Amino acid sequence: MPNFSVKDSVFEAAAERFGTPLYLYDERGIRAAARALNAAFAWNRGFREYYAVKALPNPAVLRILMEEGCGLDCSSQVELLLAQKVGAGGSDIMFSANAMPPSELGLARAMGALVNLDDRSDVDTLTGFGVPEVVSLRVNPGGKGGNQFMGGGLDAKFGWMPSQLEDGLLVLKAAGALRFGLHAMTASNTLQEEYFAGNAAMLLHLGLELERKTGLALDFVNLSGGLGIPYRPEEKTNDLALAGELVRREYRKALGERDDVRVFTELGRLLTGPSGFLLSRVLHLKRTYRDYAGLDASAANLLRPAMYGAYHHATVAGRRDAPHDHVYDLTGPLCENNDKFAVQRPLPELRLGDLVVLHDAGAHAHAMGYQYNGRLRCAEALHTTGGGFRLIRRNETPEDYFATLVEGETE
Ligand SMILES: *Cc1c(COP(=O)(O)O)cnc(C)c1O
Repeated sequence: MPNFSVKDSVFEAAAERFGTPLYLYDERGIRAAARALNAAFAWNRGFREYYAVKALPNPAVLRILMEEGCGLDCSSQVELLLAQKVGAGGSDIMFSANAMPPSELGLARAMGALVNLDDRSDVDTLTGFGVPEVVSLRVNPGGKGGNQFMGGGLDAKFGWMPSQLEDGLLVLKAAGALRFGLHAMTASNTLQEEYFAGNAAMLLHLGLELERKTGLALDFVNLSGGLGIPYRPEEKTNDLALAGELVRREYRKALGERDDVRVFTELGRLLTGPSGFLLSRVLHLKRTYRDYAGLDASAANLLRPAMYGAYHHATVAGRRDAPHDHVYDLTGPLCENNDKFAVQRPLPELRLGDLVVLHDAGAHAHAMGYQYNGRLRCAEALHTTGGGFRLIRRNETPEDYFATLVEGETE
């Protein structure tokens, strides 16, 4: 079930103050999720969550997560610069390469980040910048499983085949590496707590084998992201304590008394997803073959429904419990028929000016925004633990849109 802990009066007040469309993030919910995760893995001495920056790349939110002890998982130059901006450095940063421009791997190295290599060519690139004592390799265990986002199967673009890892590690060892970590992400948005345990068992098994073969020490296993959230009312919330306990059992099975292997995660969606809301007002009501409600937000603000057919729960502020006896397509103004937040969705009867709350918009939401049709990315605000509001990103303006154009004579 989506997160209903933020009151409609809070949504109304934020929309009144900052206008719509608006992303609102709930600091209390974000902190609670980070604490629950840290508690679930407290049994592991070196446990650390590296929040996947791509999910919600706003410095205000990244600072909150760092205060809760999280590091940051980055995958681009700009994400590294964001990490730098919020004071992260060295082992606070995990940098995952994939078809990575060499200069970005160089920047990650210069910042002292842990680097997670995606293939053999990254080894050569890294060697050029100097190989650190601890290196990480991303594994694709193959087989079937995985999904359209993360693959984790034969068609996944990410990671090394297990049989390729030994050679890669030996090259890294010759270049100065002493310890290694293994990383895998073979699912996205799963609601099965066992996923992390299965991933841990696979990585630990492989890690111990590679330790024997290469003489390098296994330093960590990175379970990455992929534990998901209940977007739909009938879905259940992942039980983090259970997920942590299931990993602990696999850890004991593989390592016995040994406790020097650190466990890392890189959750994005699970930490911030349920604490983000896209607020939008009904600007048009139209009745043709169906009933349409046109909102002031569009797929350019929240792409997931248009791109993946993803479900986002919608409520109407002040009428959450009213009878849902009307059926609407909730649309945006883009000239694309997939610009719909909901299709044939039961809702209370809508009126012009109603505030529609799109739930679970705290991850892979504002971050995937774009400017198609000259629609501009909207503001983001934080609902603080103290109950106040803070603007953490302003609306884009036409000036922002025009700023990158180059005009002048053709040479
Ligand atoms: C996207 C991503 C994550 C986070 O995924 P979630 O589904 O948000 O948990 C973690 N690690 C890597 C390498 C990723 O690409």
